[in-house]
This record gives sequence, C-alpha cells and structure tokens, in this order.
Amino acid sequence: MQHRITVLGAGYTGAIAAGRLAKRLRHEDVAITLVNAEPDFVERVRMHQLAVGQDLKPRPFSEMFAGTGVELRLARVTGVDVDRKTVAVTDANGSEELPYDTLVYALGSGWNAQGVPGAAEHTYEIASRPGALRLRERLARLAAGQTVVVVGGGLTGLEAATEIAEARPDLDVALAIRDGLGDWLSPKGRTHLRKVFGKLGITVYEHAAVTGVEADRVATADGKTIPAAVTVWTTGFVVHPIAKATALEVTGTGQIVVDGTMRSVSHPDVYAVGDAAHAIGPGNKPLRMSCASGVPTAWQAADAIAARLTGGKLPDTSLRYFNQCISLGRKDGLIQYVTADDRAVQAVLTGRLAAVYKELVCKGAAWGVANPTLGLPTRRRVPRERAAAGPAVEALG
Ligand SMILES: Cc1cc2nc3c(=O)[nH]c(=O)nc-3n(C[C@H](O)[C@H](O)[C@H](O)COP(=O)(O)OP(=O)(O)OC[C@H]3O[C@@H](n4cnc5c(N)ncnc54)[C@H](O)[C@@H]3O)c2cc1C
Repeated sequence: MQHRITVLGAGYTGAIAAGRLAKRLRHEDVAITLVNAEPDFVERVRMHQLAVGQDLKPRPFSEMFAGTGVELRLARVTGVDVDRKTVAVTDANGSEELPYDTLVYALGSGWNAQGVPGAAEHTYEIASRPGALRLRERLARLAAGQTVVVVGGGLTGLEAATEIAEARPDLDVALAIRDGLGDWLSPKGRTHLRKVFGKLGITVYEHAAVTGVEADRVATADGKTIPAAVTVWTTGFVVHPIAKATALEVTGTGQIVVDGTMRSVSHPDVYAVGDAAHAIGPGNKPLRMSCASGVPTAWQAADAIAARLTGGKLPDTSLRYFNQCISLGRKDGLIQYVTADDRAVQAVLTGRLAAVYKELVCKGAAWGVANPTLGLPTRRRVPRERAAAGPAVEALG
C-alpha cells in the first residue's frame, strides 16, 4: 500500500513541494497527486507584465511533471475534510473525493478588496491571470490622456504603476497610497523610487487611503476625489476561504497555523506552504506572502514529510529574507537588501542592473517550478514501516 500524499495547488510552492517529494521518496512507496484548477503554471509575479500586453511563456504542467512520478489532477478543490482525510474536487466530469494520508495545502491567495465600498465592483486586480487579462483588455481600449489610478503602495502597486506608465506613456498614471512612497525602504531606495516615478510621470498621492471607488473616480480619506478611467487595486492578498471552513487551526484571516516544519499545529498529517500558511520567521514575525519566503516553506515541508516518513533527520531550512526585488518597468528596478526579518538596510542596487537582477530572480523561480526534480540529489529512502518489514523493501539508494 502506497502512502498517499496530496498536494493542493500548483503555484510556486505546491509545484515545488510536489517535485521535491517525488525526488526524496521512492515512487513505489508513495503516490503523489498534485491538484490544480488550471492546466498550466501561472507566473503570478509577472501579472503586471501580462496586464500591459506582454506575453508570458506557456508552461503546461503536463510537460513539467512528465516522468517525475507526480500525478497531475486538473480539478477545482471545493473543500477539505481533515477528520475523514479527504479532499472534495470538481471537474468537467463532476465531483469526487480524494483520500489522502498526508496533505500539503498550497492554494495560495487572491486579491483583497478589504471591504472598501465600490472596490469589488469597479476595480481591476492583478493577483490572478483572469484579473490581469481583464485589465489588459481594458488598458488596450484606453485612449491617450485617460487616467489610471493604482491603489496600494506595496511591492505590487509599485510594480504595476511603473509597468503601466512605461508601457503606456500616453496615459496619465497615478498611485494612491495610505502612507509615504516606499517609506519602509532605505533612504537610497526611496530616492531612487522617487526619481523613477518622476521620470515616468506618475502622480503620487501620499497619505491618501482610498475609502471608496466609483466607475470613474476614487475618493480618499483626506477628502480628495481622483478621476480614474481605470482603477487597479493592489492593497494586499487574502487567502481562499477553504481552510477556514475546515477544523484546521487558522488565523483570523484564514491562514493555516503551522510549526517550524510547516506542519499544521492542529492536524499533524496536514502541511501548509506559501501564502496559505501562517509561518513564523526570524524576529518572531509571520512570513509575508511572497515567493521569497514561500519557496523555502515548500522545501521545508517536503523535506520534513520525507524525514518523518522515513525516520530521517528533520530539516532546518533557512526561512529568512535577503532582499526585496522590485521591478520598475522593464528598464529599471530596485533591489533593496534587508535583514533576516525583512527590514531595509542601507545597501541597494538600482537601475538597469537591478532590472536584470529581478528578471533573473523571476526566471529562476519559474525554472525551479518547471524543473521540479532536476538538480536535486536523489536521497530516496524507505518509509519506516516498510523498512521494518524486512530486506524485500530495502532502499534502492
Ligand atoms: C503582480 C504580482 C507581483 C508579485 N511579485 C512578487 C515578487 O517580486 N516577489 C515575491 O516574492 N512575490 C511576489 N508576488 C507574490 C507571489 O506571487 C505569491 O506570494 C506567490 O505566488 C505565492 O505562491 P503560492 O504557491 O502560495 O500561491 P500561488 O502562486 O497563488 O499558487 C496557488 C495555486 O493554487 C491554485 N488554486 C487556487 N485555488 C484553487 C482551487 N480551489 N482548486 C484548485 N487549484 C486552486 C491556483 O490556480 C495556483 O496554481 C507577486 C504577486 C503578484 C500578484
């Protein structure tokens, strides 16, 4: 009887976790199923590029996982029963329950309207491919001189505003933010940001939290009204409600609470990785939703599962930050170096070199997903119960 490992979500973290498990464990001992709603990998970190009309390389999972031992199941997850250890899925043929022995939950996150009146109805999001494609189609129809307001001054907002302004210099691009522009960055980082925003002609409304959105304008807390033919909403991500509907221990926002091995603190046969997990990093701070911290959580979970199944040593993957990589259009960028717990230090890399660096980071992340088992040393070990059964199931090495 094989041990059934089911991985939900084939984004950056789920795909990497599934591939790593396949490399760590013998295929005759485990059945690894990767469930994803869509047939190809979505490079979420490039959604602002997709939105302005750039075409992304197609990355079908059927090619990525061919010959890896990971079985791909294209279906939408509708629920998880952690007591019965089943996952409910639907596809074109109907609904089904998939049983599991170990579950890796990696369903990621979506955009967050944050309950602001009108945001859900009148804004465009770029946290998903359908959202980015909808914005792409709308931007393509905008006439010169029309205003695009990007709401949110985090990394996604900065990348979206600069990408749109660079691709469409004929548009009037503005950024509305609650705080000051890049005020978590080092002085050099902030100066560079202001320089690029100035060069691209982006109007920045600082200390202007958006309190309401209408079809052609946004209203801010300081009483301003900013005209907006298109409003792009980038004020953070929120996890899908599936985990919250289970008996798993979750935070108020629905992230699964995990220990240092990414194992659920309430259900030891469930692991959570990436945006879906509430994992604690350096400085006792929760990891932020990002590939930068999500990918190491996938390595940690996969190695911990393999170690527990085979009686090996538990891993201690470094869950720390090194830098924040911000694209500022295709020709400029900002690499802000940070402490282990994500606080800016003095050092930055800016300009074209930073743009190249960021591009390499994006390519590297996609390469890691597209080659889930390449380059990993094979350390396949025998599950404990099988090893105890005798030499007939000895490790192949
Ligand atoms: C525009 C943009 C730029 C970004 N830039 C950066 C950056 O520069 N650096 C960085 O570190 N992070 C960046 N991020 C954040 C990063 O993309 C996320 O943190 C990362 O994608 C999280 O990975 P994940 O595997 O947890 O989730 P995801 O990548 O979201 O993957 C989740 C997967 O689950 C699937 N799924 C979801 N629900 C279901 C369901 N019900 N049934 C079946 N399948 C389902 C999805 O289709 C998807 O394949 C950016 C995000 C955006 C939107």
